[in-house]
Amino acid sequence: MTKTVPEIFGSMVFNDDVMRERLPKEVYKSLTKTIATGKTIDATVADVVANVMKDWAIEKGATHYTHWFQPLTGVTAEKHESFISPVGSSNVVMEFSGKELIKGEPDASSFPSGGLRATFEARGYTAWDPASFAFVKDGTLYIPTAFCSYTGEALDTKTPLLRSMDAINTQALRLLRLLGDHTSKRINVTIGAEQEYFLIDKKYFDGRKDLFYTGRTLVGAPSPKGQELEDHYFGPIDPRVSAFMAELDETLWTLGINAKTKHNETAPAQYELAPIYSITNRAVDHNLLIMENMKRIASKYGLECLLHEKPFAGVNGSGKHNNWSICTDAGKNLLDPGKTPAENVKFLLILAAIIKAVDDYQDMIRLSISYPGNDHRLGSDEAPPAIISIFVGEELEAIIQSIIDGKEYKGVKAPVMDLGIPSVPTFRKDTTDRNRTSPFAFTGNKFEFRMVGSSQNISMPNIVLNTAVAESFRQFADKLEGVDDIDSAVSELMRETFSKHARILFNGNGYSDEWEKEAEKRGLLNLKRSVDAYKRFTLPKNIALFGEHGVMNETEIKSREEILFESYSKIINIEALTMIEMVSRDVIPSVNAYIAELADAAAAKMSVLPDVDCSVEKDLISKLSSLNAKTYKALEKLRKEELKAAKIDNFTERAESYCYKVLDAMDALRESVDAMEVLTSSDYWPYPTYGDMLFKL
Ligand code: ADP
Ligand code: MG
Repeated sequence: MTKTVPEIFGSMVFNDDVMRERLPKEVYKSLTKTIATGKTIDATVADVVANVMKDWAIEKGATHYTHWFQPLTGVTAEKHESFISPVGSSNVVMEFSGKELIKGEPDASSFPSGGLRATFEARGYTAWDPASFAFVKDGTLYIPTAFCSYTGEALDTKTPLLRSMDAINTQALRLLRLLGDHTSKRINVTIGAEQEYFLIDKKYFDGRKDLFYTGRTLVGAPSPKGQELEDHYFGPIDPRVSAFMAELDETLWTLGINAKTKHNETAPAQYELAPIYSITNRAVDHNLLIMENMKRIASKYGLECLLHEKPFAGVNGSGKHNNWSICTDAGKNLLDPGKTPAENVKFLLILAAIIKAVDDYQDMIRLSISYPGNDHRLGSDEAPPAIISIFVGEELEAIIQSIIDGKEYKGVKAPVMDLGIPSVPTFRKDTTDRNRTSPFAFTGNKFEFRMVGSSQNISMPNIVLNTAVAESFRQFADKLEGVDDIDSAVSELMRETFSKHARILFNGNGYSDEWEKEAEKRGLLNLKRSVDAYKRFTLPKNIALFGEHGVMNETEIKSREEILFESYSKIINIEALTMIEMVSRDVIPSVNAYIAELADAAAAKMSVLPDVDCSVEKDLISKLSSLNAKTYKALEKLRKEELKAAKIDNFTERAESYCYKVLDAMDALRESVDAMEVLTSSDYWPYPTYGDMLFKL
């Protein structure tokens, strides 16, 4: 690196500094007002901004621009247009108008619309989101946009996200005013998304059709060594990985992304990158750019970056801890309890609102992270279960209990930690100590939502959290407005809310079987698989929630519900077809060839020495032959289930069939394939092993 980090940081971003420096004063003022209020931008202002943006982008090497959007495919979309405009018959100039900046009309017909297309025109349009900064990447000016149908229904994840940010702002301000805050103008949600991922050598990736087509291994016996020694976590970073991380950091910094922490994760070949938190919509855009750059840069180092939630069975999966908090425009974190939380009424009331929101909308929170990849991860190997609960730590729990009981809070003594090393002073254990098993944990001054999957766009979990908490705030504000004695009304509201929703609080081990039983007793939902969660999207209470806050209307919800079911079926279908191809064309023929070699070897031996011991060959031939027959039977069963599922018309029933029938058939098939792998000569096995992928970098 020849330049310093502060010099390169944000150098490819058309951010506030660039705008202030380059735009005429009036235009800059008008644009920042648009950003702050969300009002539509004036056409003449847009023309000036577009022109300045284009000149800036050309200086950064851009020849094209693109409206960058987030359709419901879960990945980003872009269509590049060059700036060229003909002059006469043989010359061009570089042009970019306000109209082109504000609005694009990509052909929407190939993006999922969940039935919206049947009722409305196929046309869709992208609308500039001035609150997310434009940036230059690979010779193109990227303009973050929202993507809507011709009639205004959101066809993307960003539109409802922006609406949910407004919803929580509106309701939080109402509540804060009642609590005596008359200065805050805007309440923002801050998000820090820690991204986990795997890196494996590209040559092993190329040898695996399952990773190539589906992102996860569909077969594969465990390697002799797994993660049991826990020697990878925070271990020294391999030089090739280190070079990859350095380039990744540098690229992200130029894009104005605060990449901060990087380290080896628990599983072999697993890593994590955490940025410093930012405002929701920026955090979402940044996370998408982080994932995209991880994939792109890894390939330059002969590596493959796996973002799937569960690339390897029996090994930790990858998640994305979504750290969530709310703060005022003056930068005050509203989830900071202060030194004496018992006295901090504002904090406790907001805490009550969040606890209520999570309890009332457990199903939507579960739904927001539900898709096939995450189903494999949740509830196994160090991942939270499918039951939603909240960890608040001992001290807060005791405070909440004292409020419920109407007793004065006496305080729990924070246990003193003694590290046993003379030079290190003893210190007080943080009373909000980490409970790694909780899906939704209070970690000092923010909540950490840990169920989010590593590959997903983090919009949906944050849309749900923002809207559900906005609803609690709304109900609180409604209750408190116009009361004579606000202090006692607040106390009563807190007591009532904590009593009613204490069932969602759980400080114990979320991975244990006892918790599953206990949760059932408490009446908490346990939506084990994604399809169980999808079914709850259109419940009247959920339609009412999103409608009330203008985040999604019923049409938008129904279209999203359909897309969720549909993409679930499509993903499992691809997995099933991939497995069928692998087993029928690679695994069974390879095992047969090995059996033939064993038979030839035995026959050759016997031709020399008729009484020679051929027990090894015979035993292996016998075991492998019966396993191969079992495999074939399981393969036929999978073919049958896949065909059956694919024929079902109703999208809910089709997804259920993939979930319960096809996946089960895949599990059975995998079991016998993996049993054969450990008996077959490595010369004959058609794929790189778990050992190759996880340990040979
Ligand atoms: P860890 O959870 O791994 O111990 P930290 O607690 O330092 O690490 O932070 C994890 C993530 O939480 C980081 O991305 C950080 O920026 C983010 N974070 C910290 N404070 C907030 C906040 N107020 N709002 C949202 N995210 C936050
Ligand atoms: Mg964390």
